[in-house]
Amino acid sequence: MALDLSLWTGIVAADTRTGLVTVRSGTTLRALHAALGGLGLAMANLGDIDAQTLAGALSTGTHGTGARLGGLATQVEALDLVLADGSLVTCSASTRPELFAAARVGLGAVGVITTVTLRCVPSFMLAADERPVPIQEVIEQFDALAAANDHFEFYWFPYGRKALVKRNNRLPSAGAGPALAAGVGPAPAAGAGLAPAVRDSGPMPDWRRFWEFEVMENAAFGTLCRLGRAAPRFIPALNQLSSAALSSRSYTDVSHRVFVTPRRVHFVESEYAVPRESLADVLAELRRAVPRLADPVMFPVEVRVAAADDIWLSTGYRRDTAYIAVHQYVGLPYQAYFDLFESIVAGVAGRPHWGKLHSLDAERLRPLYPHFDDFRRVRAEVDPEARFGNSYLTQMFGQATAFA
Ligand SMILES: Cc1cc2nc3c(=O)[nH]c(=O)nc-3n(C[C@H](O)[C@H](O)[C@H](O)COP(=O)(O)OP(=O)(O)OC[C@H]3O[C@@H](n4cnc5c(N)ncnc54)[C@H](O)[C@@H]3O)c2cc1C
Repeated sequence: MALDLSLWTGIVAADTRTGLVTVRSGTTLRALHAALGGLGLAMANLGDIDAQTLAGALSTGTHGTGARLGGLATQVEALDLVLADGSLVTCSASTRPELFAAARVGLGAVGVITTVTLRCVPSFMLAADERPVPIQEVIEQFDALAAANDHFEFYWFPYGRKALVKRNNRLPSAGAGPALAAGVGPAPAAGAGLAPAVRDSGPMPDWRRFWEFEVMENAAFGTLCRLGRAAPRFIPALNQLSSAALSSRSYTDVSHRVFVTPRRVHFVESEYAVPRESLADVLAELRRAVPRLADPVMFPVEVRVAAADDIWLSTGYRRDTAYIAVHQYVGLPYQAYFDLFESIVAGVAGRPHWGKLHSLDAERLRPLYPHFDDFRRVRAEVDPEARFGNSYLTQMFGQATAFA
């Protein structure tokens, strides 16, 4: 069954005092940010892009970065769903809590989300600080950097010696009331060994935004990728060139304009959530192994963090998480690289992002999620005939009727 909810959009209700906003599920994040901005509200944390629908982003466990914040689904207060029998139900922490635990990151398996009630925060500004740092230094200071910044991540070109460290920190806002406190606590003093993150450098002019994001990160990088695809033996050198060309910048903008950046160079991706304390070992193994791959890697590795949460199939379930995403430019061989990555993260109980490439099945997923069988049971209760089933869900959960 395929449903198109692209016309099912917009905000249904909003309480600017509590920050609770009810949104139709087909709303794209881009449209949502604009609508929330008009209300003086924002989502507490976001991923890299805003083209997805709210329901699609939630259902696949989409996340951003921030050691004291969970993925997007942790911002959900309640969901309305149409179940397989056509009934419309509401679920929340107090109403049908098991359905709520399953449906917040539900892969479309338990019903059609019709509306989402989000707990938003007052609009806020982010001070962005990005700078190249030797990768070894970043790994050594990883915990301190994660703790000292509201939103910390880094990109590392696999043959380069430097990583691009991004530190986004919230600026105090006049309107920040109790709802903001629900989003994130105060960060410890910034810095953590690196030069302190710039805390307010003003907005980036439009021309510079165009130059940095469109020309350098998309057009120029896309050209290097095409060169690499045409002549793969040059990829390690092109990779080192990209790494050496990393430059510093700092600017201030409204939160979603900092979180979200244009992504026009096409790639394939696999991402795993690993226990935060395993990050250094995983990266060390990846650094040793990548140069031995027969097909070189053109795209950087991205590392982010998130706080533990309590959502059954969240990749951050009950553990503070580091996310490691590997990418390859579209059209270049990636399977051996992704297999290698998967074999490394398997050793530390890595959990795959539900919306990105991975090869796990029910047998391998079950030990990773304490409530895996609870999810299957709830699914069987609300959709005994697997009307919402598809081949991906069969791979993830086995035959839906096993619990019926
Ligand atoms: C360039 C790029 C950057 C990305 N960046 C990030 C990132 O920073 N962080 C991150 O975590 N992920 C990221 N992703 C992954 C992305 O967030 C997910 O793939 C996202 O879920 C896709 O949303 P969609 O609207 O296309 O959903 P779809 O592909 O349409 O659906 C995804 C899933 O959601 C289910 N679903 C959709 N609508 C409903 C509904 N109404 N009710 C019930 N189930 C529903 C579907 O059944 C399906 O299982 C990125 C992806 C791309 C391509």
